[in-house]
Order: sequence, then structure tokens, then C-alpha cells
Amino acid sequence: MTLKSRCAAVLAVAGLIMGLTTPAATAAVAQVLATVETAPMHGSGDAADDPAIWIHPTDPSKSTIIGTDKSRDGRGLVVYDLSGKELFYYPDGRMNNVDVRYNFPLGSSKVGLVGVSNRERSLDFYKVNESDRSLTKVGSFLPTANIGTPRGFSFYVSPDTGKYYAYVTDIGKVEQWELNGSTGSVTGKLVRSWTVSGPAHTEGLVADDEMKRIYLAQEDVGGIWRYGAEPGDPTTGTKVVSTIENGGDIVQDIKGIAIYYGSGGTGYLLAVSQGSHRFHVYTRDDNRPLGSFAIPAGNGIDAVTGMDGIDVTNFGVGGPFPQGFFVTQDHSNDTGNQNFKVVPWQSIAAAYSPALVVDTAFDPRKIGAGPPRPPRLRLTPPSPASRPTLRVPPRPSSASPRRRPAPPSDARSTPQPLPTAPARSRTRVWPMVPTPSRSGRLTRTELIRRLPATRGQ
Ligand code: CA
Ligand code: CA
Ligand code: CA
Repeated sequence: MTLKSRCAAVLAVAGLIMGLTTPAATAAVAQVLATVETAPMHGSGDAADDPAIWIHPTDPSKSTIIGTDKSRDGRGLVVYDLSGKELFYYPDGRMNNVDVRYNFPLGSSKVGLVGVSNRERSLDFYKVNESDRSLTKVGSFLPTANIGTPRGFSFYVSPDTGKYYAYVTDIGKVEQWELNGSTGSVTGKLVRSWTVSGPAHTEGLVADDEMKRIYLAQEDVGGIWRYGAEPGDPTTGTKVVSTIENGGDIVQDIKGIAIYYGSGGTGYLLAVSQGSHRFHVYTRDDNRPLGSFAIPAGNGIDAVTGMDGIDVTNFGVGGPFPQGFFVTQDHSNDTGNQNFKVVPWQSIAAAYSPALVVDTAFDPRKIGAGPPRPPRLRLTPPSPASRPTLRVPPRPSSASPRRRPAPPSDARSTPQPLPTAPARSRTRVWPMVPTPSRSGRLTRTELIRRLPATRGQ
């Protein structure tokens, strides 16, 4: 054994021991570095609010980040490539939060749909033009007068019915709108509304389209509330995360929240602690805290502080993000107006001990791609020819080479009662659709070559 390999073996054993002895929720804050930052906002002051990730259908390296500019002088939606370069800017209103889903039936076609809460009091919708990644506005409607300023926004696609919904929030008010694109323009029908007690802003919103949940972040002495996402679900929520005033682990305000989809119900709920400049990670299934991370200055990119919206994808998009990435608003940019910072998911996963799951299996583009699953259990099993394929492999007891082990406490925990969650065997069924070709992706060298031009802007 050479000295080098001996050192590697010692380090591996040390890492294993640490992995076995370090609790999942440590007080230490993991430190990770951004590798990309976007061009600055058009608007000045507190302009950037929320990002969303759109995955290109055939060349994932051409995926985009769509960011909102809520300022009065910027007021718009901006599309960036994965090097942070601005591709398109649509000064259409004081855009607050943004979300993306795929396969939305619009007229006679199925489109990637971008939805935005516009503070000028509307919900606005765009389709993504795959040829050049530009956006075309395809509808707009007003929420009820209860939503004085549309702030939080999230799509939800029901795996039971295939219906697309838009959630919008203002201070304590939540509305769920069923979307319809049959005329070629997006319209909405109010199907549910409720009020969350407390005077605080309720803005951060994210849906888990597999577990049929909607999460809502409440600012101030707040927390994260979980509800069933179907329109017939009860409007009494479960507070799954609390701020430190109530014995929780997170410092107010809780801002953006996002879901990292792992296979077999694994993955994470991520949340911004604006007050402590940290991001908190919780297990996806039962929302247990796994500690926090921060993004200090590094790689020629300024530190991330005072954050607002976030998004994350597990999907490998090639280049510097072969295992997905995380994107966050940064309140203060050293070289101009606010912008967004981007971190490879594998950097975040590896900064934890034990490491977080890295799992590129879930393909967000397949949501809504097939017929919805039957809302009730079948009485007779389907024939082998028509049987849907499990899109996600079974829960990882075997050593899959593409997946790191889940945090031990996750695997061993007794699942909490989840009144709104379906049995796992029913959440996993996705009909098989063709997998996009990866042949056209940019090489790492090509992407790295593009980076310096957009750094430090
Ligand atoms: Ca916000
Ligand atoms: Ca900064
Ligand atoms: Ca900067």
C-alpha cells in the first residue's frame, strides 16, 4: 500500500466513524460555496424574490433559472442560463413568487407552465418555448379580494386526477385555484380557501406532488404548516416546523421553502431562515430537522445573506451540476443589484455528516406526463401489458451506485402518522414515458469556459 492510498484508507475509516457517531441534527452549520451567480436584477433595492428551475426536455444543460423582480423599477421576470447569464427579461409587473410544472394541457398542446404571483394583483402564466427558452404569456386572472397582495405561489399537480392547481397566499389567507387551459389561455376556478391564524406574512409555499401535500411558511414567531393538497382535504394543518421561540430549530423569518425529491419517499424539505442567514434541511416524509447550512463567500462570489426565495432540483443537468443544484436569492450582492446564487447539490449533500442523499432518479418533467392514477384502489389487477411501471426504484436497502445512503436516523425512524399522505405503494405509480436524450448536453469544459464572463456582475 502506498503512502497515498494508506492516507486515503485512514481518511475513509475516519469518515465512516464520524458518519456513525455524528447525530443527523448537529448544531454545527455546514458551509457550502456557490459556484455560479446570476446577472444582477434590473430593479434596485429589495428586488430579487424567488427563483424557479425549468428543466430542458432534451438537453438538460440548457435548463434555466427563472427569477422574479418585485421592485417598482425592475418589476418583471428574468430567465437565466445555468452560467447565470440573462437570456430574457419580461418587465410585466412586480413579480413575487414563481413556480414551474410540465405537460400542462394548453389548447391542443402540452407545455411547460410558469406561474407567478404578481403584486400588482394577479396570477400570471407563461409557457416556455423550448426552441429558445423564452416565455410567452398565456393567461392571467385575479385572486379574490381576500388576497390583497399576491405573495406566495405554488403549483400542485394531483397524481389522482391529473388536475393542475395554483396556490396563492397573502397575510394568513390561502387560496387554491384549479387551472384550465382548454381554450388556449389559462383560467382559474377557486376550489378551496382558508385562513392561517396569526398576523404574520404567509408567503413561502411548496407542494409535494407525490405525497399530495402543500407546505406553507409563516413568518415572525411562526413555522411551517403542512396540509393535504387536494381540494377536498381538511384545512386544519399540522405545524411541522417551529421557530426557536416555540422550541423549534429555526430562526425567524422563515422565507422560501422547497422540496428535494428522492426515490421511495426520501428527500428533503428545505427552508430559509432569513434571520440567521441559514438554510434548514428537514426530512421529506416526516419533516424531522437535519441541521442547517450557510453559503459564505468563496469562488469569487459574495456570501449569501438575508435570503428570500429558493428552489432545488435533484435532476442532473450536466456541466457543473451533474447531480442537481440549489438556487437562492441573496439580499446583498457585492457588485450591483441583488441576484441569485447557485450551489451544486452534491456540495450541500457532502457537507453534512452523514451525507445527505444524492439521487438523480426523480424526473420533474414526468409530473403530469401520463394519465392520472385511479383515485381509488383497483378491484382487479391490470394485465402485465398495461401495468404501470414503478418510476422510482424500491426503497434503497441495496447499495445503488448512484445513491448515497440516507441519514441513518431517517431509515430507522418510526414514521409519524400522516393523515394526508397516501400509502407509499400508491404514490409511486407513474406511467413510463420516454426519457429525454442526454446526448446534447454541454461538456463540463464548455460550461466552465462560460462562467467567468458572468461572474461578479
Ligand atoms: Ca419573498
Ligand atoms: Ca451577498
Ligand atoms: Ca456578486
